[in-house]
Amino acid sequence: MGLIDIKEGNVLFTTLDTIVSWGRQSSLWPLTFGLACCAIEMIATGCSRYDTDRFGIVFRPSPRQSDVMIVAGTMTKKMAPAVKRLYEQMPEPKWVIAMGGCASAGGPFNTYSVVQGTHLVVPVDVYIPGCPPRPEAFMYGILQLQEKIKREMPSIMPSVLSRLKI
Ligand code: SF4
Repeated sequence: MGLIDIKEGNVLFTTLDTIVSWGRQSSLWPLTFGLACCAIEMIATGCSRYDTDRFGIVFRPSPRQSDVMIVAGTMTKKMAPAVKRLYEQMPEPKWVIAMGGCASAGGPFNTYSVVQGTHLVVPVDVYIPGCPPRPEAFMYGILQLQEKIKREMPSIMPSVLSRLKI
């Protein structure tokens, strides 16, 4: 990105990829659902004390309006098909955060009924350790996801131009 002063204002040079990437990372809309105790910390993070709105994070009630899945809590094998279905209903591009020890690796529940890691059901972009992770850790995970999105910098020019019919 470059900024050049001219007589009556400023001109900003950048690429379309950078703008789209900036827009994506600054308006993450997580799907609203929780699986166990970690979800309480996620809810607390969304409330006024920590206020995720300032990061552009707005929880949505439908997978079709969401681009981030936060798997917050213990995922049982009975619940796994529902999680996968919700993930498949989310439009591309989409990202997944595994919040807490249970979502990351089964946590303390090495049992027949618990999935030993979200990555066994859907692809995971960011893991947040803790049992449960504090809101500060959750927000750090969000910042890491934003960094990842920034690095991805997908080449969107062909699809955008075709939609604009240029
Ligand atoms: S990691 Fe700990 S707090 Fe989070 S769902 Fe598992 S047992 Fe509950």
